[in-house]
Amino acid sequence: MAKPTPRPTPTEQPFYDACAQHQLILQHCQGCGHVLFYPRTHCDQCQSEQLVWKEASGQGSIASYTVVRRGVSADFEAPYVIALIDLAEGPRMMSQIIETEPEALAVGLQVSVDFAAWSEDITLPVFRLHPALDANA
Ligand SMILES: [Zn+2]
Repeated sequence: MAKPTPRPTPTEQPFYDACAQHQLILQHCQGCGHVLFYPRTHCDQCQSEQLVWKEASGQGSIASYTVVRRGVSADFEAPYVIALIDLAEGPRMMSQIIETEPEALAVGLQVSVDFAAWSEDITLPVFRLHPALDANA
């Protein structure tokens, strides 16, 4: 089984274009202020089509996580960490936490966005533990 490669829709394309530039952007609803993820054509709260892309802070916290100790195929290097990240702007994003020992993880810890090439065409946001937590290192 090869790695599934996202095929961005026109609605999602700006998100992936920004990731390629190592920027995390999110849609903000001009109607109600809601911040959306995944990208949509309409606000999922008020149905407004007045959505504007804004750069996100890249900060978030771990809402939950799981350590995958055996990759589903050779394309997935195990162990790796899949996590739900509560972004500072509100949306929850499923992503990967990189370069950390699974034992160091806990729900509620702060993380910062980084970017990883997934394929030739696609760069995806990933997260790492907030550097401030390494103050004792
Ligand atoms: Zn709205």
